[in-house]
Amino acid sequence: MIVKDEEVKFCIKCGTKLIVKSDHEGKVRKMCAECDWIFYENPLPAAVCVILNKKREILLIKRKVEPSAGKWALPSGYVEIDQTPEKCAVVELKEETGLKGKIISFLGYNMQTSQICKKVISFGFHLKKIGGKLIPGDDALDAKFFPIKKIPELPFSSHKKFIQIIKKQKGIL
Ligand SMILES: [Zn+2]
Repeated sequence: MIVKDEEVKFCIKCGTKLIVKSDHEGKVRKMCAECDWIFYENPLPAAVCVILNKKREILLIKRKVEPSAGKWALPSGYVEIDQTPEKCAVVELKEETGLKGKIISFLGYNMQTSQICKKVISFGFHLKKIGGKLIPGDDALDAKFFPIKKIPELPFSSHKKFIQIIKKQKGIL
């Protein structure tokens, strides 16, 4: 189930209904009137994988989970509390495509609005395949390489941005 930020109405510590007021810095936030728990809204970090084969085709997965289930996108996932963005990228690539990857470079980051939380901050990585076999994982309906000039419309602005960066780096117009 997806819980949107605006649907958070009760304190996660004591269950009291949240109120909206200014904190000590004067920022308006949702907080608990009973135990002082504050609902901080932060961007959710995600890692995004860009992987090319020798034919300069780019690896996409058909998403199984929301947001944008059924759409083709770069392998990606939300960074877990015990992961760095780099570790997350390598783990998501393996889980979604079966491929073992190694990070070559950091492509940059992108902020975008999200259906789940208000904002996602996506970290893009260029990886190379170092092993494994291409098999869609539990989080993906399909996984395959597309010619970089013939990729389907992607649902996320971050993915489009990272593909533009890699095209520029590789001199692909
Ligand atoms: Zn509380």
